[in-house]
Order: sequence, then structure tokens, then C-alpha cells
Amino acid sequence: MKKLINQVELEQYAAGELSDEYLNLVEKATEALSGSYSPYSNFAVGAAVLTEEGTIIKGANQENAAYPSGLCAERTALFYTSTQYPTKKIKAIAVVVQKPIGRFPFPCGSCLQVMSEFQEKQNEKIDVLLVHPNTSEVLLSKGLDNLLPHAFKKSHLSP
Ligand SMILES: [Zn+2]
Repeated sequence: MKKLINQVELEQYAAGELSDEYLNLVEKATEALSGSYSPYSNFAVGAAVLTEEGTIIKGANQENAAYPSGLCAERTALFYTSTQYPTKKIKAIAVVVQKPIGRFPFPCGSCLQVMSEFQEKQNEKIDVLLVHPNTSEVLLSKGLDNLLPHAFKKSHLSP
């Protein structure tokens, strides 16, 4: 037996240490919270996608009485971005939650998988910013490999 260890590299910023561009992105993700429809979980999530040209697209989680019909904030924003701006590259995505959960709001595996494929498709890393709801500190992952190191990829579909 041998242990295989992955190094994860994340950067943590105080709110005041962020660039104006990313500070604005976090503000837009926070604004997106008002669009959350989460009567079942009462767990509002907001996201904002920044394209390379500076366009910002907001998304919020959308729940449904038929639970699997809902969608996370991150994918709501990403799929809208891909639909409206199919040729634009994504520079970053910010994620915020409303509840003071006492930790950074890591995206679910499905959202990480989608981010990973968008990153692979555009052949450029996507910065992921996770905002701590209690402290407003921001955890920044430069690219998806730190958050989903073994993503399932298009190339895995063929031998
Ligand atoms: Zn998700």
C-alpha cells in the first residue's frame, strides 16, 4: 500500500484585501441572495459569475416541491452564462450564503463538476471565491483542481 497525497492550495483574504474587481463580484453574489427561492431548506445561496470581459451574471438557488427539480445558485449562474454568452470565457465565480453557518460555503460536487468542465472547455482556470458568512473573509481557489482534483472529464469517456 502507498498513500497518494494531493496538495490543496487555497488563499484566504480578509474582505479588505480583495481586488476591486473581486470585491464587486462578491457584492453581486450577495445581491443575488434576494433571488433565492429556498422555502424548503431555508438556505439561501447567491452566486455571481465574472466573464473575461467584465460581464457579471448572478444566480441564486431555486428549489421545488419535487426536490430534484431545483438547482444550485452556482449552476443557475453558470448555465445562464453559457447560454447567453457561449463564447465568453469565465474568469471567476463567487459564492455566498445567507445563514451564518460558521464556515466557508464549499459548492456541492455537482457544481464543482460543472465548473471543472467549463474550465476544461475554455482551457483557462476559473477562480472560485467562497465568502465566509460570519467573517466576510474570502477563500480563493485558483482553478478547480484544488476543489475537485479528480473531476470526471470528457477524455474519460473513451479508453
Ligand atoms: Zn451545487
